[in-house]
Amino acid sequence: MFDCIVIGGGPAGMSASVFLARQKMNFALFAGHLGGRVVWSADVENYLGIHHVSGVQLVEAFHKHLDDYRKVIDLHEGENILKVVKTTGGFSVQTDRGAYSTRTVLIATGTDHRQLDIEGENLFTNKGISYCATCEAPFFSEKKVHVIGGGNSAMDAALFLTKYAKEVHIVTMNAELSGDESMKRNCLTDPKITVHTSMKTVAFKGNDLLESIVLVGADGVEKIVPTEGVFIEIGLKPQSGMIDFVAKDAIGQIVVDAHNQTNTEGVWAAGDVTSVLYKQIVIAVGEGSKAALDIVRYLQSL
Ligand SMILES: Cc1cc2nc3c(=O)[nH]c(=O)nc-3n(C[C@H](O)[C@H](O)[C@H](O)COP(=O)(O)OP(=O)(O)OC[C@H]3O[C@@H](n4cnc5c(N)ncnc54)[C@H](O)[C@@H]3O)c2cc1C
Repeated sequence: MFDCIVIGGGPAGMSASVFLARQKMNFALFAGHLGGRVVWSADVENYLGIHHVSGVQLVEAFHKHLDDYRKVIDLHEGENILKVVKTTGGFSVQTDRGAYSTRTVLIATGTDHRQLDIEGENLFTNKGISYCATCEAPFFSEKKVHVIGGGNSAMDAALFLTKYAKEVHIVTMNAELSGDESMKRNCLTDPKITVHTSMKTVAFKGNDLLESIVLVGADGVEKIVPTEGVFIEIGLKPQSGMIDFVAKDAIGQIVVDAHNQTNTEGVWAAGDVTSVLYKQIVIAVGEGSKAALDIVRYLQSL
């Protein structure tokens, strides 16, 4: 039986793992993708001590740090947790490859992209529709693309896309862009970006590939707009479905206290999957380490 199973290999889970490894805990780290969402960040400029770094470079640095403890960490990369079940004396963590028992669990599974759930979205995903500008922008070189959404994710994607695309159109159903003021300024002044406000996206059309977007304006008039690529950036949803016995808020975020404990003894959560207010790398790193320290304290008290 493990002392702890960490679910999630983003900044929260990786940071927790370094702390658990340094305390010589008998633990395992399960990560769908080691590095988590950070690899999707084109530029990170708010991580203390590192002025400017790409998400990929930052993940490489996290990896190297984790490598120092490879002998201690039982790493299961690419193995996904399907369910966490309560047992006598702990928990059973069921994956797509097996089941493992543990005294404590740390959930650090982050978030996944939200879908619009409209006509044509599934049909044209990967056929013109993408959810990751950082990963797929180079495929849209010199093309006219649309970013759906009006918050930080959409603005980040649009600014990144200007490095490749010929024209970038941000389409938001809100009356204005909302979020980080400097990103907003950059989007509104970038000659490649056009912002279309009060426009609701209602369908995607095409044949083999996506060809157009159907938009409805504030006046209720439907407009068919030709496009060569769409990036859907309407926010994120917590990946908390694998556990059903801890308290969650209205949108499924796991509720934690100041020690990152959930309302179930033996289960902690950290990072973007939780109700913590701000979703940032430095915060996820801090929350992960805080949870790990508390888990060590708990295990030592048993
Ligand atoms: C486009 C974009 C740009 C961003 N830019 C910045 C920025 O500039 N600065 C900044 O501070 N923050 C930025 N962020 C936010 C930052 O990436 C997140 O706050 C941070 O990655 C959260 O870390 P996390 O460990 O909580 O979750 P994540 O990074 O989401 O990692 C979750 C981990 O859990 C794993 N996982 C999920 N479900 C399962 C499962 N069932 N079984 C096994 N493993 C599972 C995943 O594979 C992954 O390893 C950005 C985010 C995006 C999307």
